[in-house]
Amino acid sequence: MMKIATKFIHAGAEPDPSTGAIMTPIFQTSTYVQQAPGVNKGYEYARSQNPTRKALEDAYAQIENGKFGLAFSSGVAATDAVIKLLQPGDEVICGNDMYGGTYRLFTKIFEKFGIRFHYVNMQHVSNIEALINSHTKLIWAETPTNPLMNIVDIAAVATVAKKHNILLCVDNTFASPYLQNPLDLGADIVMHSATKYLGGHSDVIQGCLVMNDAALREQLYFIQKSCGAVPGPQDCFLVLRGIKTLHVRMQRHCENGEKIAYWLRNNNKVSKVYWPGFEDAAGYAVAKQQMRGFGGMISFELQNDSVEEAKRVLSSTHLFSLAESLGGVESLINHPASMTHASIPREERIKNGLSDSLIRLSVGIEDADDLINDLQQAIG
Ligand SMILES: *Cc1c(COP(=O)(O)O)cnc(C)c1O
Repeated sequence: MMKIATKFIHAGAEPDPSTGAIMTPIFQTSTYVQQAPGVNKGYEYARSQNPTRKALEDAYAQIENGKFGLAFSSGVAATDAVIKLLQPGDEVICGNDMYGGTYRLFTKIFEKFGIRFHYVNMQHVSNIEALINSHTKLIWAETPTNPLMNIVDIAAVATVAKKHNILLCVDNTFASPYLQNPLDLGADIVMHSATKYLGGHSDVIQGCLVMNDAALREQLYFIQKSCGAVPGPQDCFLVLRGIKTLHVRMQRHCENGEKIAYWLRNNNKVSKVYWPGFEDAAGYAVAKQQMRGFGGMISFELQNDSVEEAKRVLSSTHLFSLAESLGGVESLINHPASMTHASIPREERIKNGLSDSLIRLSVGIEDADDLINDLQQAIG
């Protein structure tokens, strides 16, 4: 099998058959001319098929070691498609520490259609098993979790899911396929917000699903074309380009992440650092086994545990831009309680360990010394 660097650069890429263009063209078209009614080149209407999207969908499959990829207009649109596999009365078990937009989609949109969601601490597989009944149809796992960087043992959850004939979907956005491949560990579906590391340059919104089972692919493709949350060809082109440098970017995200995690940990104004690469982190052993590195996402709390102090630090960085999102080449700083996770009720958040003063970093690929100097002057 091809090594990762080769795979990421060549994934999905075939020279354009009509011109030899090495980069897949942006097929900015809504429809395709047919030779006779029903006689066509496999492309009928661009909601159903587009060649730029097809190249990207093949790339998604290859970088996740899967058979089939599907591209969606956003990460939440990809999640939405997975939940549409279900029927009223079905139940889903998901993590209690996950992306706020996923929580909002589940609680505010799908609950009213009669689907039930149970939120548990997935670090303990027994918590999942305790909730399984004949209505359980899907386990939705995110690892590392957002924003507390907890680790879920994908292989262990997959074993439980298989035993009970339940689908397992893993949101692999934080790790990226460079660090972790859930299908290899037994998951049925991998989901990404390609907006983050896959695109990598903070210039596109997109999501994807990757799977191995052909029947599951047919169901999800049917949902994709019937509901219509497809990305445009220009966005597909941007993600295709982003994937080519994913391994190089991720290496630097990991290196910078490690330096900053240890620097924060040794700073006496910082009380707690959440990063899965610390040997004493609860999920370290599992992370070491299922990931190839620990990534550039870090959260921390200050000794002075007030929201005001957190807000002061959040407003004082120059290189770390105060913004939602993550996974781009530039560093970002974020306040989950008021930004990315504001849609989770405060009580719920606090109960799950997400404090009002937690700060989250998406460490970019700038020079680590410059990033540390920036944090130093902000933390003071
Ligand atoms: C951003 C994100 C999403 C949602 O993706 P969009 O592209 O913003 O729709 C889902 N899961 C995780 C972990 C994310 O970070």
